[in-house]
Amino acid sequence: KVRVRFAPSPTGPLHIGGVRTALFNYLFAKKHQGEFILRIEDTDQKRYVEGAEQYIIDALNWCQIPYDEGPGKEKKYGPYRQSERKELYKQYAEALINSGHAYYAFDSSEQLDFHRKDHEAKGKTFIYNYHNRLKLANSLSLSKEETLTKIQSGEDYVVRFKTPQDTQIPLKDLIRGNITIDSNTLDDKVLFKSDGMPTYHLANIVDDHLMEISHVIRGEEWLPSLALHKQLYDALGWEAPQFAHLPLIMKPVGKGKLSKRDGEKMGFPVFPLSWKDSIGYREAGYFPEAVTNFLALLGWNPGTEQEIFSLSELVENFSIERVNKSGARFDPDKTKWYNQHYMQEKDNTELAHKFIASLKTKNITLPEDKKEVAYAEKVISLIKERAVFLDDLWELGNYFFEAPSSYNAKAVKKQWKEDTPNIMEEVAKLVNGLEDYTSEVLEKTVKQWITDKGLSFGKVMPPLRLIIVGDMKGPHLFDIMALIGKQDTVERIKTAIK
Ligand code: GLU
Repeated sequence: KVRVRFAPSPTGPLHIGGVRTALFNYLFAKKHQGEFILRIEDTDQKRYVEGAEQYIIDALNWCQIPYDEGPGKEKKYGPYRQSERKELYKQYAEALINSGHAYYAFDSSEQLDFHRKDHEAKGKTFIYNYHNRLKLANSLSLSKEETLTKIQSGEDYVVRFKTPQDTQIPLKDLIRGNITIDSNTLDDKVLFKSDGMPTYHLANIVDDHLMEISHVIRGEEWLPSLALHKQLYDALGWEAPQFAHLPLIMKPVGKGKLSKRDGEKMGFPVFPLSWKDSIGYREAGYFPEAVTNFLALLGWNPGTEQEIFSLSELVENFSIERVNKSGARFDPDKTKWYNQHYMQEKDNTELAHKFIASLKTKNITLPEDKKEVAYAEKVISLIKERAVFLDDLWELGNYFFEAPSSYNAKAVKKQWKEDTPNIMEEVAKLVNGLEDYTSEVLEKTVKQWITDKGLSFGKVMPPLRLIIVGDMKGPHLFDIMALIGKQDTVERIKTAIK
């Protein structure tokens, strides 16, 4: 049975890399009819940030990748917050001590600092393992009595994992294949502290075991911890889950990992939802479908040229084997491209409702005859091709709702000739006389009139567009004229030639 988990620490907002990890877990779970679990890893209370857990939950829901089990969705494996599982971890730390896989250490941070600096001065790195263990204050260098006295007198201690000496540790990663780690390079990591709290390493593997996690899918930054985790499973006599470490998400340009600062510098969101002063994808007007689609392709490749995937298509096509080893470059323009794509797929009625609501927040009042949803819907169908965000719709189509308040000066200079006012006056009359006021009739009539008059299209169409739109942009001019209506068309012409 496939059971995977997303295990964030509530230390701040989820960034886009975190959402990608959650998404890959979700896709893998759904692909294998498994369960997707949310576990909150809040053992480090110094780094705990109020509101972060709710943010994470809201973000997953917004992306439409809800978890099956977790806080508020309790099943038999709960509770799902490590702070609420606190009592559980101590027994495993003790079991590891009893079996000789772990030991007590009493070194103060000042002492450890001293050793680190001392090594550095000699051009060496200080590793807390067999190299130095016996020179340090721990239950391996002290007598049983000394150790006991220290503990009983309330001295602060930590429990460290006893890394074996001269051992090659074979590891298997579903993305990276087989890896071997030399145990002599590993630190004896802290597993438990005398304040009763486990560290990430111990809590993480105890919970993955108790929650019957089958696959651990997480970011590459955790690969260096894999050797320790594997040894902990072995030491506790547990079967380890399978591991897959996802490639890093890289900066749009240059070297290194994508950071919040890249977003601030280059003007793109790095969070799914807003957080304090940073706006998220949601607030920037992205559709969740666009976000999950582009995130899926950051590190995974379908093996074909296909770029557009709905969430269910992602589930169907996803496989860990097709996750790349190398870092995935983040491309903000591509995220816009995806949004523009999903904009075209959106239902125009739905867009029209949202568009009208968004105008209210901008304090824009539409004229009486142009404030119906049905009208906005028709406008949207003509202009949305170029829209990336909902907010672009007003920018692209305001002239459908109100007469232009100014005309593009450059275009006026180029298109507005001495005889233009006379010609436009005649166009106004012609248009005003039409019984059947549709785009087709307008087009036929005006074109016929141009031919009959021996005029050129260039003399009529560009200035007419300027009058109606205020600029040389926009869809088919007769479509615009038909939609805004006869009265508005004639009025716009009259205002322009006045
Ligand atoms: N709590 C870790 C994090 O914040 C989880 C790492 C893991 O998935 O094992 O990323």
